[in-house]
Amino acid sequence: MIPSQAETDDAWHMPLAALGSLREGESMARHTTLGVGGPARWFFRPANRAALVRAMQLCPAEIGILPLGRGSNMLVPDIGIYALVVDLSELNELYLEGCMVRAEAGVRMSRFARQCAEHGLSGCEFMATVPGDIGGGVVMNAGCFSQQVSDTLKSVDVMLRSGEMVEFDADELEMSYRHVELPNQSIVVSASFELRPDSPDQIRERMRTMRSRRSSTQPLAQPNCGSVFKNPEGDHAARLIEAAGLKGFSIGGARISSQHANFIVNEGEASSADIVELIRRAQRVVKEKFEIELEPEVRMVGEWM
Ligand SMILES: Cc1cc2nc3c(=O)[nH]c(=O)nc-3n(C[C@H](O)[C@H](O)[C@H](O)COP(=O)(O)OP(=O)(O)OC[C@H]3O[C@@H](n4cnc5c(N)ncnc54)[C@H](O)[C@@H]3O)c2cc1C
Repeated sequence: MIPSQAETDDAWHMPLAALGSLREGESMARHTTLGVGGPARWFFRPANRAALVRAMQLCPAEIGILPLGRGSNMLVPDIGIYALVVDLSELNELYLEGCMVRAEAGVRMSRFARQCAEHGLSGCEFMATVPGDIGGGVVMNAGCFSQQVSDTLKSVDVMLRSGEMVEFDADELEMSYRHVELPNQSIVVSASFELRPDSPDQIRERMRTMRSRRSSTQPLAQPNCGSVFKNPEGDHAARLIEAAGLKGFSIGGARISSQHANFIVNEGEASSADIVELIRRAQRVVKEKFEIELEPEVRMVGEWM
């Protein structure tokens, strides 16, 4: 069941069907790597940037929008989400010129990394191992293996809730560890990066090493969202959760991975409620034992009890 809210004038969304694909009540479990989450009230995949602008203009200001990349860092409640979910996967053009690369939000980070390697451009090798899109990567300032988006990001094109486009330089975004300042309810439409020339073979070799390190330490065979918590200053969330005795602990169909304690895996039948209960349990026990507040890295979108 979708959250009960006073129905807004239902006619506003009808023209969206001509601007891309529009579904009502689409299960978000199909669009998140955790494989959980109830229905989106409206689920819209704009055909192109112009369609996205028009949709933002048509969608009443009181209706929230939820930009969606690959859903690899997103937790949606079991009751679903009363919003216009905007799936950006059709915005997937990539342009290279010298050391500059511009990618639309829906370009997979793995594709971005592959293309950069092919053109002998270094600085984003880590993207080969992160399952999100460029838009989601910018918003999360994604990173690993001592690289992060902010190292090479030069500027972003952002669509405000009104449909107006604004360009920001990266240094206006106050980017830090998994943090970026963007206007509320805005959408990253494309991002430009400046990389360094290097040998394609060496770039590919670094990507291979990163992939194999990841597959030997993380539970990639089961649905998950990567690191559930940010690492607190000077420590590791995984170490704290393990030291608190919660490695392998489960609630319902969700388990704190026995391979990597900062991962929660869906063992098949997990609900969002199971996962949130595990998140809260880990926060509570770590706080009691170590006086440290674990802050979720996963974005808990929609309304939670
Ligand atoms: C196996 C696995 C490994 C992972 N490893 C890493 C890692 O090493 N490092 C790391 O940083 N992360 C990692 N992650 C987490 C995740 O992949 C990253 O955070 C990624 O950047 C999320 O991208 P996405 O496109 O999936 O975003 P989504 O999950 O779709 O969205 C995340 C948030 O960004 C918002 N958003 C998405 N796109 C846009 C847009 N275009 N404009 C505005 N807002 C937007 C969403 O509304 C949501 O709030 C991992 C996840 C998995 C499943």
